[in-house]
This record gives sequence, C-alpha cells and structure tokens, in this order.
Amino acid sequence: MPELPEVETTVSMLKSKTLGKVFFSIWAEDGNEKRLKEAKNKKIKEIKRFGKSIIFFLEGNVFLFVHLRMTGHFLFGKWEKKFFSGGVTWVSREKVMKERKNGFLRYIFFLDDGNQIALSDQRKFAKVKVISKEEMEKHIARLGPDPLLITKEEFFKLFKNKKKAIKPLLMDQSFLSGIGNIYAAEVLFKAKVDPKKKANYLTEKEKEDIYFFIKNILKKALKLKGDSTSDYRLLTGEKGGYQDHHLVYNRAGLHCFVCKEKIKRVNIGGRGSYFCPKCQK
Ligand SMILES: [Zn+2]
Repeated sequence: MPELPEVETTVSMLKSKTLGKVFFSIWAEDGNEKRLKEAKNKKIKEIKRFGKSIIFFLEGNVFLFVHLRMTGHFLFGKWEKKFFSGGVTWVSREKVMKERKNGFLRYIFFLDDGNQIALSDQRKFAKVKVISKEEMEKHIARLGPDPLLITKEEFFKLFKNKKKAIKPLLMDQSFLSGIGNIYAAEVLFKAKVDPKKKANYLTEKEKEDIYFFIKNILKKALKLKGDSTSDYRLLTGEKGGYQDHHLVYNRAGLHCFVCKEKIKRVNIGGRGSYFCPKCQK
C-alpha cells in the first residue's frame, strides 16, 4: 500500500499537473460517473495529503477524496478510447503506460488543457468520492499527527498509555498517520528495536531512535520518489526507487547488512513483519 513517501510524491506531481485547471469530464470503469459530477468544472485550488489520503480542494467548497488503498496509483498522460467486443478500453501510445501495473484504469479525469489523469488500480480497493467539508474535517480529526511534522516532545507524548507492540502501533493511523508495513519495518531495524516489543517497555533511547529514523527513512524514501515493490508508480508511469534500498523489508532469508544474520519474516498483528533477530533484540 502506498505510504507517506509514495502519496506525498503523488501529490506533488498532481499539483504540478492540475492546479488551476478543471476536470471537464470524468470516466469511471463502473459506469457510475454521476456520483462524481460535483467534482466537474470546478477549478482545482489545492491538493493536500492527510496521512495516506489525498484531498483535492475544488472551487465552491467541494472536496474530492482519494485513498489509493492497496494498488491504486495516479498516472498522467493521454489515453484513447478503443471499443472491443467486451466493452471499452483505454489505450496510451506511451510504452511505459503499457506496463501491466499501469493498465488497470478505473477512472480517467479529463483536464481542460487536453491532458488526462488516470487512476490504475488492479485490486479495485481505491476510494474516490466527493465529500463535504464536515466529512473532510471528520476524516482529518481521526488521523494521528504527521510523522514529518511532529516534534520530539509531541512524539514522546503519543506513547502515554500505549501497550501495543511497537510495529502495529507505528502503523496505526490514529497514532501517527502515513506509516505502513514497509517503513515501519525499515525504521525499527535502524532503531534496533524488536518489532514485537510492547510500546510501554521501550526505553527513552529507543523512542528517540525511532523518532529520528522515522524522519530519516521517510525523507530518504521521498528523495527516491517512493517504493515500487508493489503497484505504486510515479505519475509518469515509472517506478520510484526505494525498493532498491530495503534494509529488511522483503528480504526474508537474506543476510543482514549489519551482522550477516538471516532476516526473518514473522506475523505481528496480522501483518508480515521483517526484522533481524540479532540486531533487533
Ligand atoms: Zn543484523
């Protein structure tokens, strides 16, 4: 699932391509474009990331909410409608858009400058909907602080009465918003903390290291334009770069870069969790 660095990269690219423009038409694969009609022909004033979600601020207090969930990612380009016996398909002339992961178009937003923004989403879990100001405020209120903005003091305060294992806690969007399975694993490896360790048993030094490496790893991943281990792609259709820099994520059975021990994958809180049993004790 796209996490903070992927969604942040997506938002900054969306801003450069769509701010000040309008969606004059919207196509939806399920044929139900009507439910997005309020998002049409309204100037895009701002686009912001909240945790892992994206909100387009449109003229007239209309908000287009997008959550990419498992496999959703935005693409920028031009697609042409082609009819075939089973229905309609959209075809791009660009080679990179022919990559399989870029071919599951569920929505196309037609911009008034002739370009298009598409949402490719193989698993079809992505959410796209028009929401009211109240719904937006409710959504934001449910989210924990942003890991890039939080101060050390605020971060330490979050741990009050928290007894969950640290890895699922870091991934809990009401605790901190934006971290998922990949970056939680990478941060805890750098901080040398066992992902199963209960939050109330963490030492001050461990919390400090977790705080430091959250910022450090997320910034590194942002510089690399995110992680394309799974379906996430840049708006250009190309891959980000963090998947080539994994320390533990997706490395089960491979040697730890620090101590040569084999990286393990265990289930913690229902999620596959990668760690080095020797470095993270
Ligand atoms: Zn190790």
